[in-house]
Amino acid sequence: LMQLSVPLNFIGFIYREIRQGLTDIEQMFDLLDVPQEIVDRPDAKPLAVSAGTVEFRDVHFSYDPNRKILKGISFEVPAGKTVAIVGPSGAGKSTISRLLFRFYDVQAGQVLIDGQDIRDVTQESLRGAIGMVPQDTVLFNDTIAYNIRYGRIGASEEDMRKAAELAQIGPFIERLPDGYKSMVGERGLKLSGGEKQRVAIARTILKAPPILMLDEATSALDSHTEQEIQAALDLVSRGRTTIVIAHRLSTVISADEIIVLQDGQIAERGTHAELMRRHGLYASMWDRQREATEAEERLRIAREGD
Ligand code: ATP
Repeated sequence: LMQLSVPLNFIGFIYREIRQGLTDIEQMFDLLDVPQEIVDRPDAKPLAVSAGTVEFRDVHFSYDPNRKILKGISFEVPAGKTVAIVGPSGAGKSTISRLLFRFYDVQAGQVLIDGQDIRDVTQESLRGAIGMVPQDTVLFNDTIAYNIRYGRIGASEEDMRKAAELAQIGPFIERLPDGYKSMVGERGLKLSGGEKQRVAIARTILKAPPILMLDEATSALDSHTEQEIQAALDLVSRGRTTIVIAHRLSTVISADEIIVLQDGQIAERGTHAELMRRHGLYASMWDRQREATEAEERLRIAREGD
């Protein structure tokens, strides 16, 4: 009986999460990692979003007690502005996005949206206010239209198509034999990483959340796809409070502030120009990326010359 009770609890937990209106299947996958259940306070109120300011105030966090992941992180994303978070692998970048979604609670400090501690509001309202474009979008075994509409179930056909257009995936869908009725997912058409990400962007455009969390794909995209995705992301983040977890530095140049995370602490912060002038960690990350890109380019030219 003991053995059974754990999975049953777990299923119950997932079921409740779905019922509470968790809107993205990828969030559910994230939840599979969550060790203890986060519950709403009995007096939890819906989050009241006015401007959409996000603040991390001296946040400390660890997944397990003997290894600190975030060691006193403070930053503010003013309403409508974009903050990019960069740093070496394992620095704690994605952890910041999980804390904003409240998949975990901080051990010390606060995460605030428009001055409200996210532990004081309902999870449903919190997650409803944040749009997430994850690294890896999981699609439902359903039509592409359903997968886009998932951002706002009940959206009109016209709005759904407009979102796809804005996300730069409209022409691709229209070229498919069954168009928007094409089945996608494991048992349907397999979409590339870049296509899936544009589906996620279309969903987010439909959802139209005041706060946006973009977790860039680590996988290399060809430069044309990357430009298309960048254009779509620029569009969706315009006028919205945006946090970008950046793996490719090219996307952070225009951010209002760049936060360089290292070993769970903020090593440097500033605009692209300010950080380049410092010749510190950020500048050296750029140099390394530039060298890698140039090496790739030389390889490509050599191959084409064969
Ligand atoms: P990357 O650029 O490689 O995606 P990141 O900066 O986003 O890295 P995080 O995913 O935030 O890094 O992880 C920070 C640290 O926390 C890593 O060392 C990772 O191993 C650890 N970590 C992440 N998730 C968990 C978890 N569920 N349980 C325990 N440790 C975890």
